[in-house]
Amino acid sequence: MTDLDSWRPLREQARVWAAELRRHALRTERDPDEVRLLAGLELPRRLATLCIPAEFNPSPLIVDGLHYDLTRAADQVVFFEEAAWGDLGLVLAAPGCLLSGAMVARLGDRAQQEWFYGRLTEHRPTWTFLAMTEPAHGSDGAAVETTLTSVADDAAGYRLSGTKTYIGNATRAAVGVVVARTSAGPLGVRSVLVDAEAPGFTTGHLPTVGLAGVLGTMTFDRVEIPSGRLLGSHLPATRRGMWGWVTAFNVLRTVVAAMGVGLARAAYDYVRDNRPSLHGTERYRLEAMAGHIESVRRLTHRAAAAVDRDPGEGMLASAAKVGAARLAEEVTTEALTFFGPGARLEHPLLDKWARDALGVEYMEGTSNIQRLNVAGALLRGGLASAGESTAAGGGGDP
Ligand SMILES: Cc1cc2nc3c(=O)[nH]c(=O)nc-3n(C[C@H](O)[C@H](O)[C@H](O)COP(=O)(O)OP(=O)(O)OC[C@H]3O[C@@H](n4cnc5c(N)ncnc54)[C@H](O)[C@@H]3O)c2cc1C
Repeated sequence: MTDLDSWRPLREQARVWAAELRRHALRTERDPDEVRLLAGLELPRRLATLCIPAEFNPSPLIVDGLHYDLTRAADQVVFFEEAAWGDLGLVLAAPGCLLSGAMVARLGDRAQQEWFYGRLTEHRPTWTFLAMTEPAHGSDGAAVETTLTSVADDAAGYRLSGTKTYIGNATRAAVGVVVARTSAGPLGVRSVLVDAEAPGFTTGHLPTVGLAGVLGTMTFDRVEIPSGRLLGSHLPATRRGMWGWVTAFNVLRTVVAAMGVGLARAAYDYVRDNRPSLHGTERYRLEAMAGHIESVRRLTHRAAAAVDRDPGEGMLASAAKVGAARLAEEVTTEALTFFGPGARLEHPLLDKWARDALGVEYMEGTSNIQRLNVAGALLRGGLASAGESTAAGGGGDP
C-alpha cells in the first residue's frame, strides 16, 4: 500500500462525517447554543476523544482496519481539511482537546496527563480550552499579564488572576490550559491546568461576524489552583514554559493551514456544484482557484511532515499558515462573485464561509507573526534544511 492509499480511508471517512455536519451549519449560526445539541453527530462525537494520545485513548480512530493517530500532524492535516470542508465554525466549536491536548502532551507529567485525558474519556462530550490571548497581548505571548501566584501558607498551591479574550469554547469548556506568569521574564511564562468549576472563574460570549458562537472571554479572580496542576515542573527550566507552546503551535499551525484549505475547497466545490455551466473567463478563474488550493495543500502536507520529524522545525508550518489564511479569504470572496450582486443573501452558506474565512488569519498567530518566524528561520539557516526536506520528498504527501 502506498502512502497515498494509507490516508485515503481517513480522508473518505472524515468527508462523510463532514457532509453530515454541514447540514447544521446555518442553524447553529442563528443560535450558537445549538452547538451543544450537535455533540451527538458523528464528527463532533469523534472529535471529543480523537486528539488524545494513544496510550490514554480507549477509542482510537480505526478506519478500514487502519489505526490513525490524530496527535500526528500528518494525520491531523488530512482529517481537519475534510472536517473544515464540512464547516469550519462547527469544527472549532466541537468538544475535544485539539489545542489544550497539544500543550498537555508536551508539558504534562504522567499524573497530569492521566487527570486531563481521563476527564475527556470519562465525561463525554467534554469541551476544553487553551487560554493565552489577553485583551492587550495577542501576538506577543511572552508579554502575558495573567498571574499565577504561589500561596505559601495555604494548601491551595496557587492563585490565578487575570483576563483572557478570543478563547475558543470558553463558555462550554469544563477544563483547559491557561498561560500565565509566575515571575518576570520569559522563563516565568508557564501553563496551568484549570477546572472551569473553580470559584472565581467566569466566562462570557464574544459576538463575532464570522465563526459565530466559537469565541468567548475568561476572567480569573484569585482562582485557587492545586499545586499539582502547574505544567512542566518535571522538565528542565528552559522547557517548562514557552518551549511547550512554541512547539505545540508549530504543529497546530499545520492544522489551521489544513482548515484554511478545507474551507477554500468547500467554496470552490460550491461554485462547481451550483454553476454547472460557466462562461467567458469564469472557467479560467475557477481553474486558477483549484491550482491555488492544491499548491497550499501540498505546502501544508510538507509542513506537517516537517513538524512530525521535529516539532521545533516550524518554518514550513508558518509558511503554510500564511498561505492558507490568504487562500481561504481569497477563494471564499471570489466564489461569491460567481453568483452576482445578491450572492451574500441568496447563498447564505457561501456568505457564512466568506465571513468564517477571516478568522483563519488570527488562529495560532497572524500572518505578520508567521512571516517573522519564516524570516528568523531563514536567517538561522532554515533555507538549507527546507531544501533538504524537499529533496527527501518531504516525508510523505497525504
Ligand atoms: C477564530 C479564532 C480563534 C482563536 N482561538 C484562540 C484560543 O483558543 N486561545 C487563545 O488564546 N487565543 C485565540 N485566538 C486569538 C488569536 O490567537 C489572536 O487573535 C492572535 O494571536 C492575534 O492577537 P490580537 O488579536 O491581539 O492582535 P494583535 O497582536 O494586537 O495584532 C494586531 C495586528 O498587529 C500585527 N502585529 C502584532 N505584532 C506584530 C509584530 N511584532 N510585527 C508585525 N506586525 C505585528 C498583527 O499581525 C495584526 O495584524 C483566536 C482568534 C480567532 C480569530
